[in-house]
Amino acid sequence: MALPNIDASKLTKTLTTAPKELADPKTLTFGKGFTDHMLCIKYTEDGGWEAPEIKPYGPLEIDPAAFVLNYSVEAFEGMKAYRAADGTVNLFRPEMNMKRLSTSSQRLMLPEFDQKQFLQCIKELVALDERFIPAEHGYSLYIRPNFIGTEPNLNLKYSREALLYVYMAPVGPYFPRTVKLLANTADVRAWPGGVGSFKVGGNYAPALRPTMDVIKSGYDQILWLLGDDHYVTEVGTMNFFIFWTTPEGEKELVTAPLDGIILPGVTRDSLLALARGWGEFKVSERKVTMPELVAALAEGRLIEAFGAGTACVVCSVSTVLYEGADYQIPVDPANPDAVYGPLAGRLHRELLDIQYGKTPSPWTVPV
Ligand code: PMP
Repeated sequence: MALPNIDASKLTKTLTTAPKELADPKTLTFGKGFTDHMLCIKYTEDGGWEAPEIKPYGPLEIDPAAFVLNYSVEAFEGMKAYRAADGTVNLFRPEMNMKRLSTSSQRLMLPEFDQKQFLQCIKELVALDERFIPAEHGYSLYIRPNFIGTEPNLNLKYSREALLYVYMAPVGPYFPRTVKLLANTADVRAWPGGVGSFKVGGNYAPALRPTMDVIKSGYDQILWLLGDDHYVTEVGTMNFFIFWTTPEGEKELVTAPLDGIILPGVTRDSLLALARGWGEFKVSERKVTMPELVAALAEGRLIEAFGAGTACVVCSVSTVLYEGADYQIPVDPANPDAVYGPLAGRLHRELLDIQYGKTPSPWTVPV
């Protein structure tokens, strides 16, 4: 007989007896200050998935020898809930986050889970704590699903016990500004045959030291390169886009292909779909190298470059330090104070209008 999978109809709720006071929206900082409740769903190899539980936000009890604590058996997601002008709360393409979590976790030998039922449980958590989403435009609720191997066992096979849990943090509007990048030719984020395309914690810890070095040098984020030809892969924790005129004279929006090196960003996929929908220029997923980028800049063909991710949607690049030279990237030549290039700004507006329910779209999923 098949073991039980996640079943949202079995969800139990234990409500907090000490509801938190809502913070002044102006003081919200990303990643601190969580809502009242969290969702936990336990798995054991012998018993399958247990009934999902919503309970007060608080510490987890975990064995010191758990797989996750020794061998980083952890996959996670980052997604948001947005409040529309009429007060309703929507998720943005959440099925893509469910699918990515499933792919990432299976790479770590974590068990399969029913993505639809898990999403239904997340919706119930968001609905329960929706008072934490400020009504003002631009605010949202950041949702962090985490999936960890919990079996206490040092034997490196796979974790026969696991915990899927979700907690949430209200976040303020992203303060738009351009970013300065340092193209890193020493450290590599991901490589062929590696795990760059999976959202696993093990990819993020090794990026901390190079990232802090970049910040100490007065730059904002790393432009991650790969290989002797300096293939431009991603920027910080965002996918990277270039808008330029090709040597053949064609306008093209280009981002790295999903070749196993690149994290398949939900924002990346959405921007590609929007731009393809306009049909105004070529939209490509292909490899671009740093020398090609520098040549385009020298020849006046580079129009804009930007990062894309859930946190900021898009973020225009103003500078790239590469092999000792600081290259100035055009943002908006018509407006020296612009924080978005014309294309980045248009993509930003169109996507925000969908996320905040202003433009009806099948990507918007009500809670
Ligand atoms: N690349 C990396 C390495 C990331 O961590 C993220 C954030 N998840 C992204 C790209 C952007 O992905 P998304 O648009 O789904 O937030």
